[in-house]
Amino acid sequence: MSITPEAITTVLEKGRAAGLAASGGKNADYIPYLASVPSDLFGIAVVTADGQVFKTGDADFAFAIESISKVFTLALVMEKIGAEAVHKKVGADPTGLPFNSVIALELHGGRPLSPLVNAGAIATTSLVPGDSADACWKAILDCQSRFAGRQISLSDEVNRSEQTTNFHNRAIAWLLYSAGTCYSDPMQAVDVYTRQCSTLVTTIELATMGATLAAGGINPVSKERVIAASNTGPILAEMAMEGLYTASGDWAFNVGLPGKSGVGGGLLAVVPGELAIAAFSPPLDPAGNSVRGLAAVAAVAKALDRNLFQPH
Ligand code: GLU
Repeated sequence: MSITPEAITTVLEKGRAAGLAASGGKNADYIPYLASVPSDLFGIAVVTADGQVFKTGDADFAFAIESISKVFTLALVMEKIGAEAVHKKVGADPTGLPFNSVIALELHGGRPLSPLVNAGAIATTSLVPGDSADACWKAILDCQSRFAGRQISLSDEVNRSEQTTNFHNRAIAWLLYSAGTCYSDPMQAVDVYTRQCSTLVTTIELATMGATLAAGGINPVSKERVIAASNTGPILAEMAMEGLYTASGDWAFNVGLPGKSGVGGGLLAVVPGELAIAAFSPPLDPAGNSVRGLAAVAAVAKALDRNLFQPH
């Protein structure tokens, strides 16, 4: 999709106005670091499948990727063992329950259902090939970097904050293990999963990661093929099913684009074949989605007249 700079300026301003008009929400505080990020930061970026980059606001501020990392580890594991193997071992259905639900696991005999909730993401991380935590971690960091077209780094501060408070996720990993659905040492899986959530990305990098999915697996900025085109459809389908926590259905109804949010305040939406829209603003609604991010991305998608379920 080719957008003129004048047209995109108007679109981004609409997104910014909609975001600023959306008030309320609260930074996540169950991870101490996230509570300390200034709540008024707000950035939006659009990256097209042919490599145009547009931004407004604090789009260069680097924030914790958190749950959005699940998408890229899923992509890595699909590349390594095939999409169908991930589907069989983890699943592809919404749980209908909060992202860190233990009940969802109990209800389905230990099968996590979705790779985009914590249980399924820990199971997915446990499928990353490697004979040590560091080898798996290196593969994940390299994958995030190739999607972003830049070297992504771990934040020691975020990682420390999460590693010292991630008891709930450790419990999930042991439940998976007892059900036979954690495919490595469970504490190694949680350690690596926690690191993958603790990298820092800017809104522009996040939009570039999404644009790589929009462009069928080729990073439109670096021009590198990051994943097979055949894996992008299944990944985007997962995002459409469970990308926005328990509000995924509302998001599909209102916006109609595959998306993924994280408790760091990031939100990514993908228009397959055309572009990605990313936003960042830390205050979250009760479902865990960025309040301003939701309003901004929805407004940008609307201004561009892009909704998968509503042909333009
Ligand atoms: N690291 C966070 C956790 O596992 C990520 C949660 C999220 O962004 O949804 O709790």
